[in-house]
Amino acid sequence: MATSRNRIRGRFAPSPTGPLHFGSLVAAVGSFLDARHSGGEWLLRMEDLDRPRCRDGAADDILRTLAAYGFEWDGEVIWQSRRGAVYNDALERLRDAGRVFACACSRREMADSALAPDGASVYPGTCNLGLPAGKVRRVDRLRVGQARIAFADEVQGTLVQKLAEEVGDFVLLRADGLFAYQLAVVVDDGEQGITRVVRGADLLASTPRQILLQQLLDLPLPGYAHLPVAIDAAGEKLSKQTRAAAIDRARPMPSLLAALNFLGQATPAELAEASLADFWRWAITHWDLARVPRRHQLPAPE
Ligand code: GLU
Repeated sequence: MATSRNRIRGRFAPSPTGPLHFGSLVAAVGSFLDARHSGGEWLLRMEDLDRPRCRDGAADDILRTLAAYGFEWDGEVIWQSRRGAVYNDALERLRDAGRVFACACSRREMADSALAPDGASVYPGTCNLGLPAGKVRRVDRLRVGQARIAFADEVQGTLVQKLAEEVGDFVLLRADGLFAYQLAVVVDDGEQGITRVVRGADLLASTPRQILLQQLLDLPLPGYAHLPVAIDAAGEKLSKQTRAAAIDRARPMPSLLAALNFLGQATPAELAEASLADFWRWAITHWDLARVPRRHQLPAPE
């Protein structure tokens, strides 16, 4: 895939676990405007790797909604489910570098460990010197070593993570044989030449793992901007699990305006009457990342 290093390139990477809801629209709007405001490209990637969580028809539904909302993406859509060989190459490179080990621990066996920021257990290191006698491999993990990763998020500020203490050696190949999101996202962002990752702040704590993988795979470091995540009245992130309502494909303007306001962009009243094309012209011109609230979560509009 051709990549030009001097060009801004953003992306939107939905998981087709259900139709687009307001929370995913916010990530689409933020990443699109961030790229287009600088004259850059915006790529679309279907993160349909976690097949058990994907729903039939959801990817098509997402593509149709994005098109109806006036999003225009560059190039072909990338489908993670078709890229197993590429992820496997990356895993083997890491293995050749001595960074991968087989682990037999089940979730239950790790239940007493401290919790990582994403709620998973911090890996206690049980198998990193070899599988205990009589145990069989469940997953492959990355040896994080003494990595201490610091990065400046353009919205949320500086984050520092000591991976060994806060996350531990993390999974690259899952017990069900699927490649882990952390590996796939890094390989894809690298191959697609992504220079800007703009997405929800629920992924902020994953970013140091991704930066470590970029370093180990010799991939360039993109800029990061993590947007506030929309939460419902119960304080839960909008998602399929919380039964967030799909956005209305037939009426894009109210949701688009709400997404722009959610991202701290003050919109003139007359924009509500604008055509979709005029809306996007206005939004691309006036987008200002500095106005995005520096929060991890914000209530979704009513
Ligand atoms: N597929 C992820 C999601 O839908 C987003 C991954 C990313 O932007 O890095 O939450």
